[in-house]
Amino acid sequence: MNTPPLATKSAAGQPAVDLDVAALRADFPILGSKVHGGLPLVYFDNAATTQAPRPVIQSIVDTCERHYANVHRGIHTLSEQSTELYENVRQKIRELIGAPAVEQVIFTTGTTASINLVARSWGDANVRAGDEILLTEMEHHANIVPWQQLAARTGAVLRYIPITDDGRLQLETLPRLLSLRTRLVAFTAVSNVLGTINPVREIVRAAHGAGALALVDAAQCVPHQSIDVQVWDCDFLAFSGHKMLGPSGVGVLYGRRELLEAMPPFLGGGSMIRRVTLEGFEPADLPAKFEAGTPPIVGVIGLGVAIDYLNRVGFEAINRHEEKLAVRAHEILSSIPGVRILGPAPPRTAGIVSFVLEGIHAHDVAHRLDRQGIAVRAGHHCAMPLHKRLGVAASTRASFYLYNTAEEVEFLGKAVQEVQRFFRRGRPHARA
Ligand code: PMP
Repeated sequence: MNTPPLATKSAAGQPAVDLDVAALRADFPILGSKVHGGLPLVYFDNAATTQAPRPVIQSIVDTCERHYANVHRGIHTLSEQSTELYENVRQKIRELIGAPAVEQVIFTTGTTASINLVARSWGDANVRAGDEILLTEMEHHANIVPWQQLAARTGAVLRYIPITDDGRLQLETLPRLLSLRTRLVAFTAVSNVLGTINPVREIVRAAHGAGALALVDAAQCVPHQSIDVQVWDCDFLAFSGHKMLGPSGVGVLYGRRELLEAMPPFLGGGSMIRRVTLEGFEPADLPAKFEAGTPPIVGVIGLGVAIDYLNRVGFEAINRHEEKLAVRAHEILSSIPGVRILGPAPPRTAGIVSFVLEGIHAHDVAHRLDRQGIAVRAGHHCAMPLHKRLGVAASTRASFYLYNTAEEVEFLGKAVQEVQRFFRRGRPHARA
């Protein structure tokens, strides 16, 4: 397997800020793709999903060719191998997020599934009519809809921390919004639209101060910076493997042990039981209690390889690289007349820049960028209430990762100007 190059070292032996991006890119076969008859692919849709490096792709092949069997079940060699590979990843994730124990790392199919698990299991058991769940105006639908469904089932009330016009949480409203009825504060660590980085520790502290629990949606955070759930002191944390170089179909729920132990299982079926009779069942211990059925075995093992890869490159170097790209993207895009950037200016943003071109629909922008080889996302990015708050129906989002280059960001600026020229030439309906 390929060993990814480390961030270049400074003379003092400290990791320097610059990644050897050219060497990294060689590990990602898809980044060599040509689109539209020979244009180099510029992949700026990383907030939606990231690309896999060769070691992750190879791990999928290796697992299927040499170690594939169901986990936790068969007393045979292949099953023991796949179980060991699968369980090793739980340990890697425990280390990655600073969880006290592997039993607190639950495999799910993604952030969405992780949050739904909490809403169904913890929510149904603990939330009553009139109780309050506090969210923010910048949440992904995955951290809104499960709570709306819980509210519909229980009669609970949802409240939202408002944002400023430039996309920051108005945290001064917290004392007013938190009440004795608040059971949970569920919020994103990093906005998938604005790139805003929220002060997780501060919000968790405020939630606990009011006697509420805190759930962190870390889908846009864990892939990009090193975190520690014990430092944050959060009660639940959710993230997805496919946004951090891993295969799709795998996610993680971390939870505080006492809470997970007290929560009833969400899905019922194989693996999550200790004993079943015709009259009833006794649930298994953690983490099996929340992992009913056959898990995404190949994907989990691939995620472990992705984590190894990211650790070798180094989260600090990745984070600084993305920040540099975001700063430059902001500089370039904000200097173009007719471009409105959503969200705060760097350096307090992640590698996500969403923007609106005056008079041109976001889908047309994305389409014309695609014709120049640039893959971006257009629409509401599963954050319709946020777009409504900002007074726009849709936006175009460029999101960066470790393999993106400064040259690609420069090209984005030129390509956006080309989009404007195209529509000024009066061919708004041209699609070719
Ligand atoms: N929360 C945030 C902040 C996200 O960006 C996403 C993915 N766009 C999700 C939740 C949902 O993740 P998944 O689709 O992997 O379940």
